[in-house]
Amino acid sequence: MRTKTRGIPRDGDLLLHGIVWCGRCGHKMYARYKGGGEYVCNHLNKHSGLPACPPVRARAVDAAVADAFLTALAPAELDALSRACRAQSQVDSALRANAEREVERTRYAAALAQRQYNRVDPDNRLVAAELERRWESALMEVRAAETALAEQSAQQPAGPVAMGKAFTGKVVTLAGRLPQIWADPATSDAHRKSLLRCLVDKAVLNRTPESALVLIVWRGGAVTELDIKMRVTAIAKLARGAEMRERLLELARAGMPDDEIVRVLTSEGHRSANSPDKVLAVTVQRIRLAEGISTPPARRRWNHDPGFLSTTALAAKLGIPVNWLYVRIRKKRLLIDPQPTGAYLFPDTSVVLDGVRNLRNHIISELDLRISQRENRGYQHG
Ligand SMILES: [Zn+2]
Repeated sequence: MRTKTRGIPRDGDLLLHGIVWCGRCGHKMYARYKGGGEYVCNHLNKHSGLPACPPVRARAVDAAVADAFLTALAPAELDALSRACRAQSQVDSALRANAEREVERTRYAAALAQRQYNRVDPDNRLVAAELERRWESALMEVRAAETALAEQSAQQPAGPVAMGKAFTGKVVTLAGRLPQIWADPATSDAHRKSLLRCLVDKAVLNRTPESALVLIVWRGGAVTELDIKMRVTAIAKLARGAEMRERLLELARAGMPDDEIVRVLTSEGHRSANSPDKVLAVTVQRIRLAEGISTPPARRRWNHDPGFLSTTALAAKLGIPVNWLYVRIRKKRLLIDPQPTGAYLFPDTSVVLDGVRNLRNHIISELDLRISQRENRGYQHG
């Protein structure tokens, strides 16, 4: 039975521990804390002698699921989710009530059979044997119904998750502040897990050469699919590795400094082998030097106005993933004109910072920085 329960969230556990399943073989995965933590499935190896399913590093997966969870808490989606939550708990209690009625019914039938057996004349052996058989089968039915009820009760989320309704209510009122509460060091892992489980039923992981595919199954049955880029051992193993190498050398030969190449390649969706979501300066340097291209002398036109932030600097300043910014730009939720190099520069003003924060917290759905870029008209190349 142990593998069937979701378990009670504990501090220090990985976020998905207890609700994470292997997409390859369908069995429950467990958390291994060695080396930063990973989700592991040994089922096929243990029971069939087949190679173990590939382990999945927890850090990136946990962060992406947390991000999807906080995104799902946007006011518009919350309503749908809390309705789904309510519907699910109604189904749960209906099933439970059924199971309880079944126990009562079978107990009554067994008591009746017992009375009939007790009343029969002991000398009438044939009738007594038949009634004894009926009594026994009634008792077996009682046991079956009791087992069904116990199973039904076990499926009800245990511990903090049982606070379902109360928690959902809290979640609704906290929706706007949740990203901050989530990030707050004072919030315990167990709290984060309880919050997550209020809306997430389970996560199914599938490791591919470059990424972890995550299916988030929300309470109520809705499904969200995430493709999380993972570290690989070499650039050659990346699907776009050769393309990135070519582009990198093209920019380096054109005289672009490494840090700018980093920004351009990252904004084009490239990544280093050992970084899931960006190109690292060491990658650029290593490939450039291997081709014998030396660093260009520092040129003024690459130094941007101190009143501007690069995408990375903005992400660091607001404490948000840089990739989130790029995704919003790509999806045209964040409108900003790129520099001729392809990189983005954000005016370092409270209007812009608040705007990005509001976009992040779903207070607004779109942010147009093209006007403020022009108004600030600080950045001139040449
Ligand atoms: Zn597996």
